[in-house]
Amino acid sequence: MIPSVLPTYSRAPLHFVKGEGSWLIEEDGRRFLDLGSGIAVAALGHSNPVVVNALVDQANKLWHVSNLYEIPQQQALADKLVDNTFADTVFFTNSGTEATELAVKMVRKYWYEKGQPDRVEIISFTGAFHGRSAAAIAAAPTEKMVKGFGPLLPGFVNLKWGDMEALKAAVTDKTAAILIEPIQGEGGINVMPDEQLKALRKLCDETGTLLVFDEIQCGMGRSGRLFAHEWAGVTPDVMLVAKGIGGGFPLGAVLATEDAASGMVAGTHGSTYGGNPLGCAVGLAVVTAITEPGFLDEVRRKGSAFRQKLEGLVADNPDVFEEVRGTGFMLGLKVKMAPADFVKAGYARELITVPAADNVVRILPALTLSDEELAEAVSRLDATAKDIAAKP
Ligand SMILES: *Cc1c(COP(=O)(O)O)cnc(C)c1O
Repeated sequence: MIPSVLPTYSRAPLHFVKGEGSWLIEEDGRRFLDLGSGIAVAALGHSNPVVVNALVDQANKLWHVSNLYEIPQQQALADKLVDNTFADTVFFTNSGTEATELAVKMVRKYWYEKGQPDRVEIISFTGAFHGRSAAAIAAAPTEKMVKGFGPLLPGFVNLKWGDMEALKAAVTDKTAAILIEPIQGEGGINVMPDEQLKALRKLCDETGTLLVFDEIQCGMGRSGRLFAHEWAGVTPDVMLVAKGIGGGFPLGAVLATEDAASGMVAGTHGSTYGGNPLGCAVGLAVVTAITEPGFLDEVRRKGSAFRQKLEGLVADNPDVFEEVRGTGFMLGLKVKMAPADFVKAGYARELITVPAADNVVRILPALTLSDEELAEAVSRLDATAKDIAAKP
């Protein structure tokens, strides 16, 4: 008999009933150290008073009015994002996938309005993940994602990650945009080198192609900068944001330059919930905390310290670990087994990590992880590796 919850997930038998900062408390009382943050979502940790107060204050006033009316919380969050990024304008969604959807529409509409309606193609890369809608799976068409789901949405070209020569050859007068994660998350914490991001920007400038960064996972402070592309000193024309921005509340956004957004006039796109007062009040609290002076300096300091400790773990446990990847608090340990097996072994040490492709175990702690918790995390990762190595 089919379960009452559609069985599309393979879930661990853990029942968390409470969250406190970097800790998750199981029904049976065990305290798990959370290095997953609900897949890079709980950016400020669980039940952070700053976020809870923003939610409760707004919940007591007004939850939802629809976009038929002006929403001051939405305006304030958009202004905050515009002030802190390349963007001139923002559209709010409820998820990352919806941000991908709008980006696809926005770049095509751009070229339509510029009198080049044939420029519809969107170039994406192997190992990418952009969500689960029809457009998003066409942009990252792995067999698992697309098999059996009928004809794929046309107009997408998937190229090998990092192959700049193939990319140069693929950009034609049909290309609308290049869509890329500056650091791949689901693909296994693959960091696009700064030089390649710069080359991408140059190629787009030379050909007029729009550059779209999917920073749904690597953005919102996770890399140690507010957005990961800041490391390379280049900016996109359009950027997708979600996950961390709501700190656990379902919230996403598309940020764009005035030019890139020029086709999206009144009536061309919308959302019932997107940007509602509750979501935006929470988002504003999160973005305000992350952009506070010194906050990201601490993420960078702790991220480097964590990475250094992980290098030590790899050296100490060569049978289990292969290498460390990533930057800031977006780290990956490449393991010599199925990553899900490592993650599962971690549960016995009351440790939460997240598997990814390419045999990588992701480490995506709350940006507020303390030095003591960092040391505890390293110790639990080490204990997990020793447990695995001790098994016959
Ligand atoms: C999670 C994720 C998405 C999809 O976001 P949802 O909120 O699950 O729809 C898209 N792109 C990247 C890079 C992601 O990590």
